[in-house]
Amino acid sequence: MSFLNTTFLLDHALPHTTDTYWNQFDSISKYNVQLNYFERLWAAWYAYIGNDILATGILSFVMHELVYFGRSLPWMIIDALPAFNKYKIQDQKIPTAKEQWDCAKLVLISHFTVELPQIWLFHPLAQYFGLATNVPFPPLWKMAYQIAIFFVIEDTWHYWLHRALHYGPLYKAIHKIHHQYSAPFGLAAEYASPIEVMLLGFGTVGAPIVWCSISKDLHILTMYIWIVLRLFQAIDAHSGYEFPWSLHHFLPFWAGADHHDTHHEKFIGNYSSSFRWWDYVLDTESSPEAIKRRREQKLAAIRKKQ
Ligand SMILES: [Zn+2]
Ligand SMILES: [Zn+2]
Repeated sequence: MSFLNTTFLLDHALPHTTDTYWNQFDSISKYNVQLNYFERLWAAWYAYIGNDILATGILSFVMHELVYFGRSLPWMIIDALPAFNKYKIQDQKIPTAKEQWDCAKLVLISHFTVELPQIWLFHPLAQYFGLATNVPFPPLWKMAYQIAIFFVIEDTWHYWLHRALHYGPLYKAIHKIHHQYSAPFGLAAEYASPIEVMLLGFGTVGAPIVWCSISKDLHILTMYIWIVLRLFQAIDAHSGYEFPWSLHHFLPFWAGADHHDTHHEKFIGNYSSSFRWWDYVLDTESSPEAIKRRREQKLAAIRKKQ
């Protein structure tokens, strides 16, 4: 099943010619004037590679690496600038360059050994469940509401699984690695056991796949934007910085670094990823106020019994 067979015909873009990428782009532009610039770039990529599995595989892997390290870099620079120290949540614990390098090495090894094969399997899986890869792209409103749904599903999955991973034997066997840094930094977002990457990653990759298998209405571009936003969320939550302009000041249910940093510091509570509602409703918040409130409730209950 080729990417180019359904929505538009391309006589000039026969799979895997010796043409350059930009030749493909030019011929696609010539015969498909209705497509926008980004749609032409996308179509030319698939035509140029001539193999959908390879095209999606390379695109996904490169995108993940660029976003992961590209988003972590500003946080590394901020760590090196004393002016930002006043915004650091655990201000005594600035990660050293060596710590960050050691972390980056393990993350890179895991990307090439554990994530790469999974990314390679993604296209056949996506095709099986009917993810669209064709152009034109879906409208913005559709991408936005689907991504909002994925955020909510992933957060729920993350809350329950992460909470389970804090159960003694599971913690020791799987989740302990991620808690090596009690004061996290951006790069530490994916510093975790391969089993954890797979289990928690299911919330990110599996939610859209399940959605697609039911609704038969999902474009791979929506999936990419969702994964980029989710990477931003995970890296920023590990950044260790809380600013007056952090998102949760404007969206009170957004979790952010303020929420997840405390989880790393206290090892308990604040299990969800993007939102605060699960921890709030199930009383697993780990802010100092929540801990104080629970202690007072316990004391009151003991006093009542006496
Ligand atoms: Zn944890
Ligand atoms: Zn974490």
